[in-house]
Amino acid sequence: MNLALGIDIGGTKISYALINQNGEITTEIEKLSTPKTKEEIENLLKNIISKYEAQILFTAIATAGAVNNENTKVIGSTANLAKGYKDIDFQKLSSKKVFIENDANCAAWAEYKIGASKDTNNSIMLTLGTGVGGGIIINNKLLKGKSGAAGEMHFALSRHSKRACTCGAYDCFEAYASGNGLRQTGIEIFNDEDITTYDIVEKARNNNPKAIQTLEIWQNDIALGVLGLLNIFDCDCVVLSGSMEKFVDTKKIEEFVNKKTVTTPTKIYHAKASNNSGMIGAVLLGFDLIN
Ligand SMILES: [Zn+2]
Repeated sequence: MNLALGIDIGGTKISYALINQNGEITTEIEKLSTPKTKEEIENLLKNIISKYEAQILFTAIATAGAVNNENTKVIGSTANLAKGYKDIDFQKLSSKKVFIENDANCAAWAEYKIGASKDTNNSIMLTLGTGVGGGIIINNKLLKGKSGAAGEMHFALSRHSKRACTCGAYDCFEAYASGNGLRQTGIEIFNDEDITTYDIVEKARNNNPKAIQTLEIWQNDIALGVLGLLNIFDCDCVVLSGSMEKFVDTKKIEEFVNKKTVTTPTKIYHAKASNNSGMIGAVLLGFDLIN
């Protein structure tokens, strides 16, 4: 038996599928809305797991929020999930082993095992979506830190804008490099509180100079953050994923960071392991942990 159940738990939806040791999805991907209470989430997970339990070696969950070093418990940053989510005992939901890991870490692991950073020993993956997620792999190991929460992209880019970040601090990398960051930069450039990320991208497509400038500033902010990460971690490559990465010119970022880095040159890649890299990475990590 080389199948596992992969589950991706996000703020709005829960997706799941059976996945094999090579990271291949072998069933349809099922999607459900994420319930609003802890008890409903527990019951839903129990039902999903019991349906597949006889066929699988283990369950692997990619979740929003930080996860402890034992891969058993969520420890923080779950503002978009039900109150009490942190108290769920995931192992209790199955008679077989249940692993859990942060979704950005899982996606980074999927890229490392079967995607853009395959065959490297040191890589960073940045998920550019509404916010910015991060996963760092050093010497072929996921960097977890003392509590399990390492790789959160809250460090300041010094633009002195006093731009409030989701973490409560100001001017974090996330506050500039995320989709929300692009929108904030657009608000500053267009002097229009109501402009959306979509508006900016559409206007840039139609050659609006202010929109092009907004995207350039956003990309430059991403490059500055990537440069700092590279100088600290000296990694082989940085992989960009998430809904916003298609608007990034990886070659430009690569040129910029390689001109300025204090280490040797690095590659910048677009992610390869698909939109389902969270659940795929969780399962691949599970196979590494169970052996
Ligand atoms: Zn922050």
